[in-house]
Amino acid sequence: MIPNYVGGRWVPASGSDSLEVTDPATGQVLAMLSVSTPADVGAAVQAASAAFPSWRDTPAVERIQVLFRLKGLVETHLDELAESLTREHGKTRAESAGEIRRGIESLEHACSIPTLLMGETLENISRGIDCETVRQPLGVFAVVTPYNFPVMIPFWFWPVAVAAGNTVVLKPSERDPLTHQRIVDLAAEAGLPPGVLNVVHGDRRAVEAILKHPDVRGVSFVGSSAVARSLYAAAAAAGKRVQALGGAKNHMIVLPDADHDRTAEAIVSSVFGSTGQRCLAGSVVVGVGEAFRPVRERVLDMASSLRMGSGLEPDVDLGPVISAAHRDRVDGYVSKGVAEGARIALDGRGARVARFPGGYWCGPTVFEDVRGDMTVGREEIFGPVVGLSRADSLEHALRIVHANPYGNAISLFTASGAAAREFRYHAGISMIGINVGVVAPMAFFPFGGSRGSFYGDLKAQGRDAIEFYTDRRVVVSRW
Ligand code: NAD
Repeated sequence: MIPNYVGGRWVPASGSDSLEVTDPATGQVLAMLSVSTPADVGAAVQAASAAFPSWRDTPAVERIQVLFRLKGLVETHLDELAESLTREHGKTRAESAGEIRRGIESLEHACSIPTLLMGETLENISRGIDCETVRQPLGVFAVVTPYNFPVMIPFWFWPVAVAAGNTVVLKPSERDPLTHQRIVDLAAEAGLPPGVLNVVHGDRRAVEAILKHPDVRGVSFVGSSAVARSLYAAAAAAGKRVQALGGAKNHMIVLPDADHDRTAEAIVSSVFGSTGQRCLAGSVVVGVGEAFRPVRERVLDMASSLRMGSGLEPDVDLGPVISAAHRDRVDGYVSKGVAEGARIALDGRGARVARFPGGYWCGPTVFEDVRGDMTVGREEIFGPVVGLSRADSLEHALRIVHANPYGNAISLFTASGAAAREFRYHAGISMIGINVGVVAPMAFFPFGGSRGSFYGDLKAQGRDAIEFYTDRRVVVSRW
């Protein structure tokens, strides 16, 4: 049974329900996870509250030494962590290593906290009176994360929260929690004091207990939009700070003057990387005018030559999806697309990998003539499926984008600076790519979407994270 981590000790959860963690390439059970109860959540929050005063008293320059050491340990153990991540998630080894490297970048960002925490001062705001702001941590924060980046996304949040002097209760995804367990061990080895980071495993019941707990000051959430939206409302109603990052339907617009070869490469990598299980996955390609035909040909050609297999095998492009239920869901979307009249140019339903008959396989799928009012043009599929559609102009393409409820990321491919500027001005989406496929800002920039892809005000990472995890206190003094 996968244990919780509370007050620096591995402890079993008290719930009687359990869940399986499987290897998606084989279907074999890797571990069992017992579902935490409100009492387990209460114990973790209590441990975090007890650790807060002395952690807050530890100077920021000392706090970050732990994170520097953890960065070194994660780098040393990168191969082992990547293999574990591939085994429980399914993504290829290169994708796993890439994810861990992005996590390391977040650790590095957290290590700059002494500078980021600095306040402002103005002397003599009135005769003999000075004014300053100081940033102070708030106490216990909860972090709730999804399955698709089970190492990187926890690293988006807890290192910067604890670097700022808070303590944390993390509720990782119940589907692939194993690699992060190893990271918790490495954090302890790096010297993170007991209670500063606590981990409770489980499902929505643990999250509901977090939302009800009066000592949790704020919640950072990443997951599907329906959950993000309801969690945002519940956390706000309980008087907590909340940032809730949700799902996506990312459009990629191609103008006729784009470099078609490079564009198609970027599109295929965006759509099919991590088998489409990314909030930054490209989902709809809008070819403007003459751009449609060359992009269609290249994308189809490249998509049909992708190699499926276990992420642990060399030369594999497309690993399995996370579960049998998710495979069926993706296949169901494809069938719905066919029923609603989208033309299927490459059909990945019922895919098999003979070497791994128990794996959860979804083959690359390409639709043509996708419209925004079709389910496959509107909803997040979260699998290796792309819809191709046409527009008469950039303005028309943006109308298609704006009719969609999501607003996470968007890309434009063009050789025209004027078109790129026009696009940036009118895109109305938070993460904008120009001649790049996946818009993944680095840790010192904010990460998060808009509209149905984000509920809150302050995004993950960047300076927003410092705002989120601290309160700015204003001191007016006369001596
Ligand atoms: P999910 O919403 O099912 O689960 C996310 C977390 O919430 C998990 O820890 C889960 O245990 C918990 N949870 C699930 N249902 C809940 C409920 N009803 N109440 C409270 N908590 C609940 O998401 P997932 O399937 O693990 O991850 C995929 C989703 O995450 C996709 O929609 C993807 O776009 C999104 N995502 C978004 C970003 C982003 O930056 N915007 C990044 C990664 C993933």
